[in-house]
Amino acid sequence: MVERAQLIGENKDLIWSALKTTESFLAQKEWREVECRSCGSPFFAKSSYNLDSCGSYKCTGYEFLAEPKKKKTLSPQRLGSKISSHFISQGYQVAARLPIVNQTGSTLFTGTCGQVFDNAIFNEQEYKSSPLLAIQPVIRLQGKDLVGVTDGFSTSFVNIASEQMGASKEQHLQNLNTWLDSLSESGIYMGTISLVPVVGTPDWGGIKPTGLTLRINYLGLELGVSNYFPAIRQDSRDTLKMSDISFGLERLAWALSKTPSYFDVLGPLDRSAVEEYRKMDRIRTITLMLASHVTPSNKDRGSKLRSLAKDPSVGDKVDLELIEYYYNWWSNFIDLPASLTETVNGIRAEIYRNKNAGIQNKTGIKDIPLDIPTEEYLQQLLLRNPDIGYVKRLFLEK
Ligand SMILES: [Zn+2]
Repeated sequence: MVERAQLIGENKDLIWSALKTTESFLAQKEWREVECRSCGSPFFAKSSYNLDSCGSYKCTGYEFLAEPKKKKTLSPQRLGSKISSHFISQGYQVAARLPIVNQTGSTLFTGTCGQVFDNAIFNEQEYKSSPLLAIQPVIRLQGKDLVGVTDGFSTSFVNIASEQMGASKEQHLQNLNTWLDSLSESGIYMGTISLVPVVGTPDWGGIKPTGLTLRINYLGLELGVSNYFPAIRQDSRDTLKMSDISFGLERLAWALSKTPSYFDVLGPLDRSAVEEYRKMDRIRTITLMLASHVTPSNKDRGSKLRSLAKDPSVGDKVDLELIEYYYNWWSNFIDLPASLTETVNGIRAEIYRNKNAGIQNKTGIKDIPLDIPTEEYLQQLLLRNPDIGYVKRLFLEK
């Protein structure tokens, strides 16, 4: 397992103690310590089964896809409700949704349920220490180039998590136990789960808390992570203890359905059938951004939106059906401040702008504004150059 000598930093005693408590908790639940046959990493597996891989993608690929399929599978929405009901029955309160546009912390967008405690962590505000269950649409752009290349990645998804500020290490393990029960109840067989311990120090923009993580892997697919931070630094008060156990809801649904592609879960099927994965992902995330009142611009959030909209997969026509589909999808999980019409118009304006910019690059004519419909842009070009054949060719060239 993790050796004491490997631990560094000011909280190594606290991390060591959390690790020892975790080991004895898991031993009681009949998880044993094993080494991965491929990478040698130590991990925990159920004693009664012969799991010999840490379950990371690099060690086994998506081995879970070969497992027997369930006759009936749940949509992510239904699965989210089922997990919520389980947690509510165990006394958890449902956390209020955060807006996608993040106002506290260090990130531009809400990227994880743990941000429900940003005010406690960054502004040192009061908090309640009762355990929460959060279901939160999030945006993570780090993996954007992997989308459509390695299956299982998307730039936006629904994060479902238990969160508890002020949690002792025993309370954290109680939260983990509720999760393992809930996953079992949903149909994930515990004998196929690997729990891989890792000690890390994520950078939350100035605050770098040491945490003990268990990666929760299912035959090649990382379903989620269980994080315990025993001492988050504060200026005006004692350090904070935090339990954060989070999953990708769509990944959980994929683990259960075992459809050939992750994008079959993200739908619609008429698009995943023709493998428009990159387009589905870009439209899905842009829809969430625009519906959350992100304004396209050349900096910060607006520039991230703009960069996604420039992806060639988005195409040069507004895909109304796809935008509508994802607008409705997100509406199942969060209140969207902008209307569908505003969202469609936002995407349309970006498509015009990108097309106009492409034409501008070819003509070198800089004084026609880019933020106008492409038809109007072409008409203005015709005023400069009456050769209609030339203007039509400019439009058609990619
Ligand atoms: Zn491995």
